[in-house]
Amino acid sequence: MKLEFIDLKRQYETYKNEIDARMQKVISNSAFIMGPEIKELEEALGKFVGTKHAISCASGTDALFLVLLAYGVGEGDEIITTPFTFIATSEVIALLKAKPVFVDIDPQTYNIDPTKIEKAITPRTKGIIAVNLFGQCADYDQINAVAKKHGLFVIEDAAQSFGSEYQGRRSCSLSDVGCTSFFPAKPLGCFGDGGMIFLNDDSKADVIRSLRVHGMGKDKYDNVRIGMNGRMDTLQAAVVLAKFAHYPQEIKDRQSKAQYYTQGLSKAVKTPHLKDGYTSVWAQYSVCSPRRDDLQKFLKDAAIPTAIHYPMPLHLQKAFAHLGYKKGDFPVSEKLSQEILALPMHPFLKNEEQDFIIGKIKEFS
Ligand SMILES: *Cc1c(COP(=O)(O)O)cnc(C)c1O
Repeated sequence: MKLEFIDLKRQYETYKNEIDARMQKVISNSAFIMGPEIKELEEALGKFVGTKHAISCASGTDALFLVLLAYGVGEGDEIITTPFTFIATSEVIALLKAKPVFVDIDPQTYNIDPTKIEKAITPRTKGIIAVNLFGQCADYDQINAVAKKHGLFVIEDAAQSFGSEYQGRRSCSLSDVGCTSFFPAKPLGCFGDGGMIFLNDDSKADVIRSLRVHGMGKDKYDNVRIGMNGRMDTLQAAVVLAKFAHYPQEIKDRQSKAQYYTQGLSKAVKTPHLKDGYTSVWAQYSVCSPRRDDLQKFLKDAAIPTAIHYPMPLHLQKAFAHLGYKKGDFPVSEKLSQEILALPMHPFLKNEEQDFIIGKIKEFS
């Protein structure tokens, strides 16, 4: 038994013919930049999510960056977000010389605690970036209500949650703008980098499309604003299109693997908590143990790969030292970073593989 943390090879072998054909078509056409697959993908995913606009871009990080640019975020602005996420969420804020203002997380869902947002709002606050960690959405009814009261925009960092549901609506459609990523290890991944932005606002969508291609105006050498090269490659769009055909089934398979883990593990370790009215696409299946480091070593000795998302909350990162946060500022995030451990999770996990992993964790506990 050779266990992978995320088995991308098994996925490729399963869809090889369709992926190869899609990629070969792009190569034969040689429309590598903004080829027809880009529009096809934007239409397919926009329809799936249920927003008027779906705009592909070069990565999940660029998706967030382009949206902040479109909102005119800059020096002196504050953006509220979670310290328990991948660095990209707050890096884009700081790159624009704005200030990430962290708010601690809910101890059950690990997403931003909506009851703590209002206290962090100042006259400089412009918006909120909530993250749907590990595939479960944050509580957008509460987040949107606070934002509306204070005139803030809300961005959904859905890099880990494409396809998950909140109160019957799909992730990426739950606030002003949704941003996702097609990094290979995300639930719906490509063979490199890619991302997408979802929104309903026509004029914002126009600005984002322009920013994505060097601030383009009506035609190619008409530049109406300062932009960047933030396009998604046509080849990557072809890969996502091929995989997307199987994605609804993959989501179901991820959900049944997660359920199987929870049934087997809930007495041995703290298993993930799904709130009523929420589904997850299980970007990660993470358990908690006060003896996390020993457990990780024990599993490694049994050839079970695991990962820690995330070993250090963002307010304690050297890159954010200038913000002046200190240890103890966000106790829920800090404790979680010591206890969390992600297990192998992908739609191609076999029952006997999960049984082996569950057995080893029980043996340790
Ligand atoms: C992966 C990820 C990103 C960045 O996406 P990339 O496509 O790698 O740039 C942003 N936010 C979160 C929460 C992520 O997990």
